[in-house]
Amino acid sequence: MQLNPSEFANLPDQMFEREGPTAVKDPAPFVLNADLAKDLHLNLDENWHLFLSGNQLAPSTTPITQAYAGHQFGHWNPQLGDGRAVLLGEAELNGVPHDVQLKGSGRTKWSRGGDGRAWLGPALREYIVSEAMFALGIPTTRALGVVTTGEPVLREQGPLPGAIITRVAQSHVRVGMFQYHAARNDVAALDALADYTIRRHFPDAQTPADLLAHAVQRQAELVAKWMGVGFIHGVMNTDNAHIGGLTIDYGPCAFMDAFDPMKVFSSIDHGGRYAFGNQPQIAAWNMAQFATSLLPLAPDRDAAIEEFTKIVHGFGPAFETAYQSTFAGKLGIMADDPGAAVLIDDLFALMAAHELDFTNTFWALSQGTTPADWPDTGADWLDRWQASFDQSAVVPSPAVIPRNHQIEAVIAESVAGHKDRFHRMIRVLATPFSFPEDDADLTLPPTATEIVHRTFCGT
Ligand code: AMP
Ligand code: MG
Repeated sequence: MQLNPSEFANLPDQMFEREGPTAVKDPAPFVLNADLAKDLHLNLDENWHLFLSGNQLAPSTTPITQAYAGHQFGHWNPQLGDGRAVLLGEAELNGVPHDVQLKGSGRTKWSRGGDGRAWLGPALREYIVSEAMFALGIPTTRALGVVTTGEPVLREQGPLPGAIITRVAQSHVRVGMFQYHAARNDVAALDALADYTIRRHFPDAQTPADLLAHAVQRQAELVAKWMGVGFIHGVMNTDNAHIGGLTIDYGPCAFMDAFDPMKVFSSIDHGGRYAFGNQPQIAAWNMAQFATSLLPLAPDRDAAIEEFTKIVHGFGPAFETAYQSTFAGKLGIMADDPGAAVLIDDLFALMAAHELDFTNTFWALSQGTTPADWPDTGADWLDRWQASFDQSAVVPSPAVIPRNHQIEAVIAESVAGHKDRFHRMIRVLATPFSFPEDDADLTLPPTATEIVHRTFCGT
């Protein structure tokens, strides 16, 4: 494997630890994203799984683990960090440097009580969902491959097959990374981190205020895109909020089947903090934490508080604009149609009352057709929508998304050693905007017994 040293390893020492992966007993290939590997010019050969398990290191590898803190479910934790991930180095994707990071590669300085490992289920969930997000055009970390380790991992359910996923992203800069250094009043680290983030994501930004404004805009657009496909991240802690506006840290995330505006899947989200409909407020709150962590960089704190507050308040309008245009596009109506907002709200009320399937409803409407199971009480809505519908205003809506019950079935079969279902799902999800005639079962909502009610972090 061919890698470049990571730029992050040149930042001040207190921002990371120099430490690498722990070799595993019996690394075996599960899946390699060959297209992505090719685009990254990694020069992988048939021994790729030795590199993606951490058993072998590329010659110019500079393995490090990154420091970060975070608000978890609103509670401050001053020290998190890469407890089970290692940044190996970088490679260029379309001329832009990208991190190559192992996840599940063993204990690190930041592991606290954890084993530093992952099991195959969450690794495959991340692979499937992050690559699906990419195909859906939603900013995300990518998945380069999954290897099994030959070592069992102990979780609540008992011993499970260990696995490592390799993640590729333009950076792994989280709100929690800024918070870590702000909490220590470490202006040198904050300054270096702000510069690094600007170089990696927003090269036209000049000041911390510019950086904040870009992050707020990207985050608002990201959450509107998530909601446009019925996605619930599930753990929007500040350590999982990416400054560049990527979807990161696929844990108990899920796509909704039947529409419920306050849907929650995560088994650890008891209060519904990260429910579907709460995501914009939480993203704005995370941006306020980011703003606070930038204050030590400002020469005049009071003036900065005023300026940053205005920028964070810009989240609401930026989100509203992105949200309206997302859903207007799905319905094939012009975003500036004066009736658009009411049509969208009324549709959601109908979908919630009749538990209509999110993806299939929007797929049918984007085709200009009436969804299956459409209620009689929706006749008036259909008339109003048809009056505004314009095929040229349609922004494609997916016919297929990774449904929870399908992911669970894939994981169960994969654990039993059968990979066919996994590969079929990956193949179909790579072209989500065309109806998979030969794999139409993947578009079906779960039957009553197939419904997955709870999803897990897998940590
Ligand atoms: P996450 O829920 O994956 O976003 O992780 C939150 C924090 O817990 C991060 O600092 C992780 O590195 C750490 N963590 C999660 N799982 C493990 C594990 N199995 N071993 C060590 N640290 C972990
Ligand atoms: Mg995380």
